[in-house]
Amino acid sequence: MASLYVHFPWCLAKCPYCDFVSYAVSGDGRETIDHAGYADAVLRELTVRSGDAEFGRARIATIFFGGGTPSLWSAVELGRVLAGIRAAFDVDADAEITVECNPTSLDKEHALRLRDVGVNRLSVGVQALDDKELAYLGRLHDEKGALAVLSSVVDIPGLRVSGDLIFGLPDQTAETAQSHARRLADIGLSHMSCYELTIEPGTRFGELAKRGRLPRADDARVIESFLAIDELLTSRGLRHYEISNYARPGQEARHNLGYWRGEPYVGVGTAAYGFLRAPNDDAQGAHGFRYRNEPLPAKYMQHTPLSATGAEAEPLDAETMLRERIMLGLRMADGMNVTAAEKDLGVTFMTKERTKDLAWLLEKGRVVRVDEGGDVLLSIPKESWLFANDTAARLF
Ligand code: SF4
Repeated sequence: MASLYVHFPWCLAKCPYCDFVSYAVSGDGRETIDHAGYADAVLRELTVRSGDAEFGRARIATIFFGGGTPSLWSAVELGRVLAGIRAAFDVDADAEITVECNPTSLDKEHALRLRDVGVNRLSVGVQALDDKELAYLGRLHDEKGALAVLSSVVDIPGLRVSGDLIFGLPDQTAETAQSHARRLADIGLSHMSCYELTIEPGTRFGELAKRGRLPRADDARVIESFLAIDELLTSRGLRHYEISNYARPGQEARHNLGYWRGEPYVGVGTAAYGFLRAPNDDAQGAHGFRYRNEPLPAKYMQHTPLSATGAEAEPLDAETMLRERIMLGLRMADGMNVTAAEKDLGVTFMTKERTKDLAWLLEKGRVVRVDEGGDVLLSIPKESWLFANDTAARLF
């Protein structure tokens, strides 16, 4: 089983907090993006990736068009890529197929066009429902526009709709953060992602922060917001299944679950990452490979990438892969199955150091251990999720 990610690298503007590979285009992108040329380049890459021995055998359970703003891509070209994926790989009949959208490039007609080419899930970047907050985040939509778009797509048969929110803005109270979540839940979204605003180096906010010119929310208020959103959404029947994600039963983002569980993924498009398991007889003794595509769209479109296990790929040893599983697995409410990871990767989780660190974490209530059917399961209780990064780092 594997998933497939397609990166679309253009947006209508660059948000000041964003460190994804995305480039602002002028106008509305209809004329300024080479829609067909980019689809052709992705289709060429798909031919290469499906020729890789490991990827070629993979069954694709989920497909995710991320970016950037893939809702700017013409539905015809996106559909052509989707057809190319189906031709190149063995795609499950009930595969989850998601497109990331912004309210400024989505309406009911576009959603219907996407559905008609095979998309069955939209992930909409709402981020806030307050015009001042949206302006601070550099978003191009306003509250009214976001609500109108969501209301027009939420009931389209055959489409699941998720919404993203950002909390932890400088002047935002927990009540405001909670009210954004409430209003999205009221619309009837089946899934919501709620992220704390993080300041990344190399972004406009990162530069301002470096010069001490970016006001920050205080930590206590960020925690209050996290808890207030949790309280509201869980009371509305959405399960808090990962630190930043909530879903109605059965509506979890299967694509992201694959990442968090350490499953392989094919990445295509500008700047896309891919990860695959190494063949058992790999000459370098690697357990996996990670590759990253060319980050400049013009260059990417000129040069089709080589094989995923070729010279440009980074070999991963079993310990590195185990650390990644710890970091991502512990973000899920269900935690990670340590025994399964050990068997899968052929490594020992319970080294002397980890056993000592785990004992401390268990004593502090930062981790819970369950022994079930011979397997050891570790998870972080919800009240300790805010320390999850530190907890995972202690188990590295
Ligand atoms: S719309 Fe999304 S991908 Fe584009 S710049 Fe903003 S946050 Fe980044």
